[in-house]
Amino acid sequence: MQKSKDEQRTGQLQRVVQRVWERVPHYRAKMEDLGLSPRDIHSLEDLSRLPFTTKNDLRDTYPYGLLACDKEEVVRIHASSGTTGKPTVVAYTRQDIATWSSLMAHRLTVAGLSSKDVFQIALGYGLFTGALGFHWGAEELGALVIPSGGGFTERQVLLMEDLGTTAFTSTPSYALHLAEVLNSRKKNNLRLRLGIFGAEAWTEEMRIHLEQTLGITAIDSYGLSEIIGPGVAMECPLREGLHFDEDHFLVEIINPETGEVLPPGETGEIVITTLTKEALPMIRYRTRDLSRLYSEPCPCGCGEKRIARILGRSDDMLIIRGVNVFPSQVEVALGRVPGLSLHYFLEVSEKGGMKELTVCCESKTVLSEEAAGTLIRQTATELKDLLGVRVGLRIFEPGVLERSAGKAVRIKKVA
Ligand SMILES: [Zn+2]
Repeated sequence: MQKSKDEQRTGQLQRVVQRVWERVPHYRAKMEDLGLSPRDIHSLEDLSRLPFTTKNDLRDTYPYGLLACDKEEVVRIHASSGTTGKPTVVAYTRQDIATWSSLMAHRLTVAGLSSKDVFQIALGYGLFTGALGFHWGAEELGALVIPSGGGFTERQVLLMEDLGTTAFTSTPSYALHLAEVLNSRKKNNLRLRLGIFGAEAWTEEMRIHLEQTLGITAIDSYGLSEIIGPGVAMECPLREGLHFDEDHFLVEIINPETGEVLPPGETGEIVITTLTKEALPMIRYRTRDLSRLYSEPCPCGCGEKRIARILGRSDDMLIIRGVNVFPSQVEVALGRVPGLSLHYFLEVSEKGGMKELTVCCESKTVLSEEAAGTLIRQTATELKDLLGVRVGLRIFEPGVLERSAGKAVRIKKVA
């Protein structure tokens, strides 16, 4: 069984390598530089001989240089959210949209969504792939879809109550804000049972908080526009790692410094090769996202490969006095302090070439001077224990920090 799957995937890999070799001069040149041709791909082990693709390859060939089909075959364009620099444009053929919809429908079904659900999509529609990926997948599986878009919290709540929303998707930081608004209201006729959250690195602490305050099961979803959008990986209801569909994507974890492939269990950068995309196949795309592979199959029995919750983007890693710090680690520490909400951001300044970090967060209630002093000491201890380095701390009163309607800005640089 496994052997025939491997053979089938080797065949898919050979076809995708042949496709980019014939149609994308940029890929061909990179392969020729390594003395490779499609004839050198005999098995899945040969994947690691192929060159990496990075965001720079997309930027250097902007907008259509990596296209592996005729422009007339492209039916849709999306662009990355462009958190840093120029956006990258991604293209889809009609078949790519069908592939995306059906794999998203499959992922959502595994996550627990069904045709009986009323599914609200509180993500920004537009160039961002998030909303439309969920939209087409949920429609394909037959759920009732409410394309409410990002923001407009009062309207989101009204739709949830009046239309009987049972499941929704948003960024985790926006779900946190929604939970806050919902819990401040007296009357609430909610039927929510499932939340699917992605587009940001988030933590178990945030999951527990969202599940308790919203009365839902909170599922982690992973995707990126360069690969296809959402639907690349998602948890099942056991919530023990995000499942990958290996009929569409080959996953590797590499050491981000050396490029060497790491064994299951070791944390490194996720690298993905698409097997079925037509317009924009990706060969060994370096995602900059850090995670690890599980070596065991999921107890749910589906047999798919799993990755652990994303630790963060390698670009977001801060080095504070020699110690690596991720915003998600700060979230874990804050989640351990009962008096704090999970609204936060990190202020980064630089003094004499050294980075300084100040964690800015919020108390849950307005506190007396004495109680505030205790909270500060408690939080500072948790941060020091978890990060392994002492950092600055400012705790604001409830409601002071900006709420995000989409991706939260976790790192703010100050002069
Ligand atoms: Zn599972």
